[in-house]
Amino acid sequence: MIKEIRSKTILNHVKQPDTWFGLKYNMNLYRGCQHQCIYCDSRSDCYRIENFADIHVKVNALELLEDVLPRKRVRGTIGFGSMNDPYMPIEREYKMTGRALEIIARHRFPVHILTKSDLVLRDVDILREIGQTYAAVSFTVTTADDELAAKVEPGAPRPSARYTAIGALAKAGIATGITMMPILPFLEDTVENITQIVTLAHENGASYILPAFGMTLRAGSREYYYDKLDQLFPGLKAKYQRRYGNSYECSVKNWKQLNDGFRERCEHFGIATKMPIFQPEKVNKKVDNRQMRLF
Ligand code: SF4
Repeated sequence: MIKEIRSKTILNHVKQPDTWFGLKYNMNLYRGCQHQCIYCDSRSDCYRIENFADIHVKVNALELLEDVLPRKRVRGTIGFGSMNDPYMPIEREYKMTGRALEIIARHRFPVHILTKSDLVLRDVDILREIGQTYAAVSFTVTTADDELAAKVEPGAPRPSARYTAIGALAKAGIATGITMMPILPFLEDTVENITQIVTLAHENGASYILPAFGMTLRAGSREYYYDKLDQLFPGLKAKYQRRYGNSYECSVKNWKQLNDGFRERCEHFGIATKMPIFQPEKVNKKVDNRQMRLF
Protein backbone atom coordinates (compact mmCIF):
# COMPACT_ATOMS: atom_id res chain seq x y z
CA MET A 1 0.00 0.00 0.00
CA ILE A 2 1.21 3.50 -0.84
CA LYS A 3 -0.02 6.38 1.28
CA GLU A 4 0.76 10.09 1.07
CA ILE A 5 1.29 11.74 4.46
CA ARG A 6 2.35 15.14 5.80
CA SER A 7 5.25 15.38 8.19
CA LYS A 8 5.92 17.99 10.89
CA THR A 9 9.71 17.96 10.59
CA ILE A 10 12.18 16.62 8.04
CA LEU A 11 15.76 17.12 9.20
CA ASN A 12 16.80 15.32 12.40
CA HIS A 13 19.96 16.21 14.29
CA VAL A 14 22.29 13.26 14.77
CA LYS A 15 22.92 13.49 18.50
CA GLN A 16 25.96 11.23 18.93
CA PRO A 17 29.06 12.04 16.84
CA ASP A 18 28.74 9.72 13.85
CA THR A 19 32.09 8.00 13.33
CA TRP A 20 30.92 5.94 10.33
CA PHE A 21 29.71 8.64 7.95
CA GLY A 22 30.28 11.90 9.80
CA LEU A 23 26.57 12.78 9.65
CA LYS A 24 25.20 15.90 11.31
CA TYR A 25 21.63 15.47 10.05
CA ASN A 26 19.42 12.61 8.98
CA MET A 27 16.55 12.71 6.57
CA ASN A 28 13.85 10.16 5.70
CA LEU A 29 11.55 11.19 2.88
CA TYR A 30 9.62 7.94 3.04
CA ARG A 31 8.47 5.57 5.78
CA GLY A 32 8.71 1.82 5.11
CA CYS A 33 10.95 0.26 2.46
CA GLN A 34 10.17 -1.69 -0.71
CA HIS A 35 13.50 -3.53 -0.70
CA GLN A 36 12.22 -5.83 2.07
CA CYS A 37 15.58 -7.19 3.23
CA ILE A 38 14.85 -10.04 5.61
CA TYR A 39 17.35 -8.75 8.20
CA CYS A 40 16.23 -5.10 8.23
CA ASP A 41 16.61 -3.41 11.62
CA SER A 42 13.93 -0.81 10.77
CA ARG A 43 11.33 -3.51 11.58
CA SER A 44 12.34 -3.41 15.25
CA ASP A 45 9.44 -2.62 17.60
CA CYS A 46 11.27 0.42 19.00
CA TYR A 47 10.62 2.33 15.73
CA ARG A 48 6.87 1.74 15.92
CA ILE A 49 6.35 1.20 12.20
CA GLU A 50 3.18 -0.86 12.01
CA ASN A 51 3.60 -2.49 8.60
CA PHE A 52 7.05 -1.97 7.13
CA ALA A 53 5.83 -3.06 3.68
CA ASP A 54 3.41 -0.10 3.54
CA ILE A 55 5.12 2.90 2.01
CA HIS A 56 4.33 6.36 3.31
CA VAL A 57 5.47 9.30 1.18
CA LYS A 58 6.09 12.54 3.07
CA VAL A 59 4.64 14.77 0.38
CA ASN A 60 5.42 18.08 2.12
CA ALA A 61 9.05 17.10 2.84
CA LEU A 62 10.53 19.32 0.13
CA GLU A 63 8.72 22.45 1.38
CA LEU A 64 9.99 21.66 4.90
CA LEU A 65 13.53 21.21 3.63
CA GLU A 66 13.46 24.42 1.61
CA ASP A 67 12.31 26.23 4.75
CA VAL A 68 14.73 24.70 7.26
CA LEU A 69 18.04 24.62 5.38
CA PRO A 70 18.71 28.38 5.22
CA ARG A 71 18.17 28.51 9.00
CA LYS A 72 20.76 25.84 9.82
CA ARG A 73 23.87 27.46 11.21
CA VAL A 74 26.07 24.39 10.99
CA ARG A 75 26.72 23.14 7.48
CA GLY A 76 27.06 19.44 8.33
CA THR A 77 26.57 16.31 6.26
CA ILE A 78 22.97 15.29 5.57
CA GLY A 79 22.45 11.53 5.50
CA PHE A 80 19.88 9.75 3.32
CA GLY A 81 18.94 6.14 4.00
CA SER A 82 18.92 5.47 7.73
CA MET A 83 15.41 3.96 7.97
CA ASN A 84 14.68 3.12 4.32
CA ASP A 85 16.35 3.17 0.94
CA PRO A 86 16.10 6.63 -0.69
CA TYR A 87 16.21 4.95 -4.14
CA MET A 88 13.59 2.24 -3.64
CA PRO A 89 11.37 1.71 -6.74
CA ILE A 90 8.75 4.31 -5.74
CA GLU A 91 11.45 6.99 -6.07
CA ARG A 92 11.14 6.65 -9.87
CA GLU A 93 7.64 8.07 -9.65
CA TYR A 94 7.84 10.52 -6.72
CA LYS A 95 11.46 11.69 -7.18
CA MET A 96 11.54 12.91 -3.58
CA THR A 97 15.26 12.11 -3.19
CA GLY A 98 16.21 13.67 -6.52
CA ARG A 99 14.32 16.87 -5.77
CA ALA A 100 15.70 17.04 -2.22
CA LEU A 101 19.21 16.82 -3.68
CA GLU A 102 18.44 19.79 -5.94
CA ILE A 103 17.47 21.86 -2.89
CA ILE A 104 20.56 20.72 -0.98
CA ALA A 105 22.80 21.63 -3.94
CA ARG A 106 21.40 25.16 -3.94
CA HIS A 107 22.19 25.54 -0.24
CA ARG A 108 25.61 23.85 -0.58
CA PHE A 109 25.22 21.25 2.12
CA PRO A 110 27.32 18.06 2.08
CA VAL A 111 25.54 14.75 1.52
CA HIS A 112 25.98 11.05 2.22
CA ILE A 113 23.68 8.53 0.53
CA LEU A 114 23.28 4.95 1.66
CA THR A 115 21.53 2.74 -0.88
CA LYS A 116 21.29 -0.64 -2.58
CA SER A 117 19.97 0.78 -5.83
CA ASP A 118 21.54 1.76 -9.14
CA LEU A 119 18.66 4.26 -9.55
CA VAL A 120 21.05 6.71 -7.86
CA LEU A 121 22.75 7.05 -11.28
CA ARG A 122 19.78 9.12 -12.44
CA ASP A 123 21.05 11.90 -10.12
CA VAL A 124 24.72 11.75 -11.05
CA ASP A 125 24.82 15.34 -12.36
CA ILE A 126 23.36 16.83 -9.22
CA LEU A 127 25.67 14.68 -7.07
CA ARG A 128 28.65 16.03 -8.99
CA GLU A 129 27.48 19.53 -8.23
CA ILE A 130 27.05 18.72 -4.51
CA GLY A 131 30.45 17.02 -4.66
CA GLN A 132 32.04 20.44 -4.98
CA THR A 133 31.14 20.69 -1.28
CA TYR A 134 31.06 16.97 -0.44
CA ALA A 135 29.06 14.00 -1.75
CA ALA A 136 29.58 10.31 -1.05
CA VAL A 137 27.47 7.31 -2.06
CA SER A 138 27.80 4.05 -0.10
CA PHE A 139 26.26 0.84 -1.45
CA THR A 140 25.36 -1.88 1.01
CA VAL A 141 26.70 -5.25 -0.15
CA THR A 142 26.34 -8.23 2.18
CA THR A 143 26.99 -10.91 -0.42
CA ALA A 144 28.50 -10.85 -3.89
CA ASP A 145 26.22 -13.72 -4.90
CA ASP A 146 23.15 -12.49 -6.84
CA GLU A 147 21.20 -15.68 -6.09
CA LEU A 148 21.67 -15.44 -2.33
CA ALA A 149 20.91 -11.70 -2.46
CA ALA A 150 17.60 -12.46 -4.23
CA LYS A 151 16.61 -14.40 -1.12
CA VAL A 152 17.84 -12.08 1.61
CA GLU A 153 17.25 -8.72 -0.17
CA PRO A 154 14.32 -9.66 -2.43
CA GLY A 155 13.18 -6.17 -3.46
CA ALA A 156 16.61 -4.61 -4.02
CA PRO A 157 18.67 -4.50 -7.22
CA ARG A 158 21.19 -7.36 -7.28
CA PRO A 159 24.79 -6.83 -6.08
CA SER A 160 26.03 -7.04 -9.71
CA ALA A 161 23.91 -3.95 -10.53
CA ARG A 162 25.26 -2.18 -7.44
CA TYR A 163 28.84 -2.85 -8.54
CA THR A 164 28.10 -1.48 -12.00
CA ALA A 165 26.70 1.66 -10.35
CA ILE A 166 29.83 1.99 -8.20
CA GLY A 167 31.90 1.88 -11.39
CA ALA A 168 29.79 4.62 -13.01
CA LEU A 169 29.93 6.90 -9.96
CA ALA A 170 33.68 6.40 -9.53
CA LYS A 171 34.13 7.32 -13.21
CA ALA A 172 32.04 10.46 -12.64
CA GLY A 173 34.42 11.46 -9.82
CA ILE A 174 31.99 10.89 -6.95
CA ALA A 175 33.35 9.31 -3.75
CA THR A 176 31.82 5.85 -3.61
CA GLY A 177 32.32 2.68 -1.62
CA ILE A 178 30.66 -0.17 0.21
CA THR A 179 29.04 -0.71 3.58
CA MET A 180 29.66 -4.42 4.04
CA MET A 181 27.06 -4.94 6.74
CA PRO A 182 25.42 -6.98 7.98
CA ILE A 183 27.31 -10.21 7.32
CA LEU A 184 24.69 -12.84 8.14
CA PRO A 185 25.92 -15.69 10.37
CA PHE A 186 25.89 -19.13 8.68
CA LEU A 187 24.95 -17.56 5.32
CA GLU A 188 27.50 -14.92 4.37
CA ASP A 189 30.38 -15.49 6.82
CA THR A 190 32.77 -17.25 4.45
CA VAL A 191 36.25 -16.25 3.36
CA GLU A 192 35.09 -16.66 -0.28
CA ASN A 193 32.23 -14.18 0.15
CA ILE A 194 34.37 -11.52 1.82
CA THR A 195 37.16 -12.01 -0.74
CA GLN A 196 34.71 -11.65 -3.62
CA ILE A 197 33.11 -8.52 -2.17
CA VAL A 198 36.52 -6.85 -1.82
CA THR A 199 37.82 -8.01 -5.21
CA LEU A 200 34.73 -6.71 -7.05
CA ALA A 201 34.97 -3.46 -5.09
CA HIS A 202 38.52 -3.05 -6.38
CA GLU A 203 37.59 -3.97 -9.97
CA ASN A 204 34.78 -1.40 -10.00
CA GLY A 205 36.66 1.50 -8.42
CA ALA A 206 35.24 1.62 -4.87
CA SER A 207 37.49 3.73 -2.69
CA TYR A 208 36.41 2.40 0.73
CA ILE A 209 34.66 -0.54 2.42
CA LEU A 210 33.19 -0.24 5.91
CA PRO A 211 32.91 -3.71 7.45
CA ALA A 212 30.87 -5.29 10.25
CA PHE A 213 31.15 -9.03 10.80
CA GLY A 214 27.74 -9.99 12.09
CA MET A 215 24.24 -8.58 12.45
CA THR A 216 21.88 -7.15 15.04
CA LEU A 217 18.56 -8.64 16.09
CA ARG A 218 15.96 -7.29 18.47
CA ALA A 219 12.26 -7.56 19.17
CA GLY A 220 10.33 -7.10 15.94
CA SER A 221 13.21 -7.63 13.53
CA ARG A 222 14.14 -10.99 15.15
CA GLU A 223 10.70 -12.59 14.70
CA TYR A 224 10.48 -11.49 11.07
CA TYR A 225 14.00 -12.73 10.31
CA TYR A 226 13.37 -16.10 11.94
CA ASP A 227 10.11 -16.59 9.99
CA LYS A 228 12.02 -15.92 6.78
CA LEU A 229 14.81 -18.31 7.78
CA ASP A 230 12.18 -21.03 8.27
CA GLN A 231 10.84 -20.38 4.76
CA LEU A 232 14.13 -19.95 2.94
CA PHE A 233 16.75 -21.89 4.91
CA PRO A 234 14.98 -24.60 6.95
CA GLY A 235 16.86 -25.60 10.11
CA LEU A 236 18.91 -22.43 10.43
CA LYS A 237 16.73 -20.73 13.03
CA ALA A 238 17.65 -23.34 15.66
CA LYS A 239 21.36 -22.61 15.09
CA TYR A 240 20.75 -18.89 15.67
CA GLN A 241 18.74 -19.56 18.80
CA ARG A 242 21.44 -21.81 20.20
CA ARG A 243 24.25 -19.41 19.52
CA TYR A 244 22.67 -16.01 20.16
CA GLY A 245 19.60 -16.47 22.39
CA ASN A 246 18.13 -12.97 22.73
CA SER A 247 21.39 -11.08 22.12
CA TYR A 248 21.22 -7.83 20.21
CA GLU A 249 24.69 -8.17 18.73
CA CYS A 250 25.24 -11.38 16.79
CA SER A 251 28.87 -11.53 15.68
CA VAL A 252 29.94 -14.25 13.28
CA LYS A 253 32.01 -16.97 14.96
CA ASN A 254 35.03 -16.61 12.67
CA TRP A 255 35.03 -12.79 12.71
CA LYS A 256 38.75 -12.54 13.51
CA GLN A 257 39.74 -14.72 10.57
CA LEU A 258 37.40 -12.80 8.26
CA ASN A 259 38.53 -9.44 9.58
CA ASP A 260 42.24 -10.27 9.16
CA GLY A 261 41.71 -11.50 5.59
CA PHE A 262 39.52 -8.50 4.79
CA ARG A 263 42.12 -5.96 5.99
CA GLU A 264 44.93 -7.74 4.21
CA ARG A 265 43.04 -7.72 0.94
CA CYS A 266 41.95 -4.09 1.27
CA GLU A 267 45.54 -3.08 1.96
CA HIS A 268 46.68 -5.06 -1.08
CA PHE A 269 44.23 -3.18 -3.32
CA GLY A 270 44.67 0.20 -1.61
CA ILE A 271 41.02 0.33 -0.48
CA ALA A 272 40.37 2.38 2.69
CA THR A 273 38.46 0.76 5.56
CA LYS A 274 37.12 4.11 6.75
CA MET A 275 35.45 6.66 4.56
CA PRO A 276 36.70 10.17 3.98
CA ILE A 277 34.16 12.26 5.88
CA PHE A 278 33.29 15.93 5.37
CA GLN A 279 35.38 18.27 7.48
CA PRO A 280 33.08 21.10 8.58
CA GLU A 281 34.39 24.53 7.74
CA LYS A 282 36.20 25.93 10.71
CA VAL A 283 34.45 29.21 10.10
CA ASN A 284 30.76 28.40 9.83
CA LYS A 285 27.89 30.81 9.52
CA LYS A 286 27.64 31.20 13.28
CA VAL A 287 31.19 32.50 13.48
CA ASP A 288 30.69 34.61 10.39
CA ASN A 289 27.75 36.34 12.03
CA ARG A 290 29.70 36.99 15.20
CA GLN A 291 32.51 38.52 13.20
CA MET A 292 30.06 40.70 11.32
CA ARG A 293 28.83 42.07 14.64
CA LEU A 294 32.40 42.61 15.94
CA PHE A 295 33.39 44.67 12.95
S1 SF4 B 1 17.23 -1.41 1.89
FE1 SF4 B 1 17.79 -0.92 3.99
S2 SF4 B 1 15.96 0.01 4.88
FE2 SF4 B 1 15.33 -1.06 3.00
S3 SF4 B 1 14.64 -3.07 3.69
FE3 SF4 B 1 16.81 -3.22 3.11
S4 SF4 B 1 17.94 -2.89 5.03
FE4 SF4 B 1 15.86 -2.14 5.36
